[in-house]
Amino acid sequence: MDKNDNTINEKYGSEETLDPHDWGELRELGHSMVDDMMDYLANIRNEPVWKSPPENLEDTFKEPLPLEPQGSGQTYGDFRKNILEPNAPLNLHPRFWAWVMGSGSPFAMLSEMLAAGMNPNVDGDTQIACHVEKQVIGWLKEALNFPQEASGLLLSGCSMANLIGLTIARNTMAGFDMRRKGILESPQRMTLYASTEAHSSIEKGVELLGLGKESLRLIPVTNEFRIHIPSLERAILEDKAAGFKPFCIIGNAGTVNTGAVDPLVQLAEICKREQLWFHVDGAFGACALLSPEYRSLVRGIELADSLAFDLHKWMHMPYEAGCILVKNEEHHRDSFSYSTDYLSHKDPWFSDYGLQLSRGFKALKVWMCFKAYGIKKYGRLIEQNIEQARYLAQLVDASPGLELLAPLSLNIVCFRFTDHRLEDSMLNELNKLLLMRLQGKGIAFPSDTMIGNKYALRAAITNHRSRKEDFDLLVEEVRSTGNRLLESRVIRKFLK
Ligand SMILES: *Cc1c(COP(=O)(O)O)cnc(C)c1O
Repeated sequence: MDKNDNTINEKYGSEETLDPHDWGELRELGHSMVDDMMDYLANIRNEPVWKSPPENLEDTFKEPLPLEPQGSGQTYGDFRKNILEPNAPLNLHPRFWAWVMGSGSPFAMLSEMLAAGMNPNVDGDTQIACHVEKQVIGWLKEALNFPQEASGLLLSGCSMANLIGLTIARNTMAGFDMRRKGILESPQRMTLYASTEAHSSIEKGVELLGLGKESLRLIPVTNEFRIHIPSLERAILEDKAAGFKPFCIIGNAGTVNTGAVDPLVQLAEICKREQLWFHVDGAFGACALLSPEYRSLVRGIELADSLAFDLHKWMHMPYEAGCILVKNEEHHRDSFSYSTDYLSHKDPWFSDYGLQLSRGFKALKVWMCFKAYGIKKYGRLIEQNIEQARYLAQLVDASPGLELLAPLSLNIVCFRFTDHRLEDSMLNELNKLLLMRLQGKGIAFPSDTMIGNKYALRAAITNHRSRKEDFDLLVEEVRSTGNRLLESRVIRKFLK
């Protein structure tokens, strides 16, 4: 079909289009794409979570720029052969617990296709797609206990949501026209506060805003990895005395390392007393609000002036989808609204709440999944993951040779294989090898982190496909792999 899609017309000559010449043929190809992806997703549990990439992988992607058409059928064949089949399922797999990643869903995949098919630019107010996004944001406010007067925006993820939140905080609290004068005109150096466990996107945001990394005061944490309130209060006091202008506290609702939740209610109180902006990074933790059983673990989120969170992590929307909610709609708009001759408008557009002008139809997958599954189901899945984390922590506790390295708060379990004859530095090496073997065998895929100076295996459970038996297998494999490593020559010589 692609060979012959030019329309020859005597009057106008040859004119081309990207639409197919033969719609029936493309329709058939589309049907087989759906069939293939359904088979692929239905079979994920039988696949290894990781497999080594093909040896010639790099060559595959050194093809020259395609100048002439090879047709859609052959191109789909290339996708299957070079992209889909050699690729490890990773975050789709029931035993993937690395970093913090969502597992998508087959229905959401279909909704992505519909969104791309409609291909609206979700900016102005005139299209139905805008109403869909407004409704989705309204639902998210309701689900996360934000007032309906709040404003919100769907974004690529929580990094962007943090940046938007911090921008509004900076501009609102500056006490002068930041948009006009810029940071260099600031009468005082502005400072903001987060715990040492804050996500790197906070630091990047602060850098981008021109505030400089040093203006972000990283406050030490307690043994539970929650921000240490007396240190925070002291830092604010000292900064004020030294002529700085504190303007914002960032609370963690689920840190990326251990899932710790800062004492949000206390942080909100300090913000009120000191007249600071309260931003919460709830990338995945905010979703715990959907679980009636566990929502108290993230109490205080609703007190935030701005809340950043992800929909592609614990809500399993296909990448990408994140969201910012802002209590005071005017503050939000004051930071981003813009009008030009070529884009004049009366009612605010989505671009009046963020950086992007052209925007995709992210809202559709959220709208369709919320309706299809119901929000209570998400609550139950989140509950299930929290209970699986507790189950895993119990297994670790009950297993000789394994130890927990951080207290459990939501869904992240940090632990290691241990042996009393080895010092920490050797245990670190052993556990590094252990993780490599575990991942390499494709059985389970936790990631790692450092807890103090101890190397930890880290299972962050945001996975709707995991079952309890998967954690039994993880613990079994960690123990047997660890024991085998103890016998190995590299480790044996270090045994005391
Ligand atoms: C993942 C994460 C982010 C960044 O979110 P992205 O969606 O990856 O941009 C920020 N904060 C926390 C706590 C996270 O876990």
